[in-house]
Amino acid sequence: MRRFTAFLLVLLMSFGILPFAAAAEPSRMVASFYPIYILAMNVLDGIEEIALDCMTAPDTGCLHDYQLLTKDMMKLSDADALIVCGAGMEAYLPDIAKQFPDLPVIDCSRGINLIPEEHHDDDEDEQEYNAHTWLDPQNAIQIVKTISESAIEIFPDQKDALQQNANAYIERLQALDETLKEMLLPIKGKRIVTFHEAFPYFAQAYGLEIAAVINEEHENTLSPAQLTQVIEAVKAAGVPPLFTEPQYSAAAAYAVAAETGAEIYTLDPLASGEIDSGAYETGMLANAAALLEAFE
Ligand SMILES: [Zn+2]
Repeated sequence: MRRFTAFLLVLLMSFGILPFAAAAEPSRMVASFYPIYILAMNVLDGIEEIALDCMTAPDTGCLHDYQLLTKDMMKLSDADALIVCGAGMEAYLPDIAKQFPDLPVIDCSRGINLIPEEHHDDDEDEQEYNAHTWLDPQNAIQIVKTISESAIEIFPDQKDALQQNANAYIERLQALDETLKEMLLPIKGKRIVTFHEAFPYFAQAYGLEIAAVINEEHENTLSPAQLTQVIEAVKAAGVPPLFTEPQYSAAAAYAVAAETGAEIYTLDPLASGEIDSGAYETGMLANAAALLEAFE
């Protein structure tokens, strides 16, 4: 019996199941939220020595006004690096730096031409930028480069595999960009109304014009004054199609549509979704199809 117990112990340890086998566990990188996780997943594909975790649940969506949870902090306690979108998406970074001063933070807004954001609060002096960088595939390529180069610095032993993965994914993203350019060429210059301020990088990449944004402040409901403002903007723009987003309530969009006669479609900012290494490409192609349908 004792021999069996010892055997079981060895077996469990070999699978890293027992806590004192922790030394044998792989290194860990943590991505702040879904889109960064999907891009990082492709960079780390098949590299068993580096595990990848998503700090927030994959259905969280954008991290605007996100409050850190204890379980998020716990995921960082033994991480080797935190990969963030940057450009202001993760407003809680100072709290993380306070709690984990030695944790390397990989800022994926590095090297990206950020789009400045207009001020809604007059009391803020600092220039803010739109943080939805990943919705332009060229920015996604830059993010993949930042993740792979930083990972190579932290894990030099994995250089070849990281480089190979990054190159293969960049090739796919380049092909995706070319496909999207071709698909969206017939609707170049068209106006759209989006639900939240997620699509300026996408619009810039494919020559679309965002005529209005229904919910600029990520609030659940719009005040009557805000609603009137959006309705006026939609009318002034010649009633372009409205695009809601899967993770937000479409009530405001329906209110605007009822007043303007605008048609409603869906665009996904890909800020949440399925854990699948091809999710970015699938989602971007679905968005292009939705846009084409809206202008058919
Ligand atoms: Zn957002």
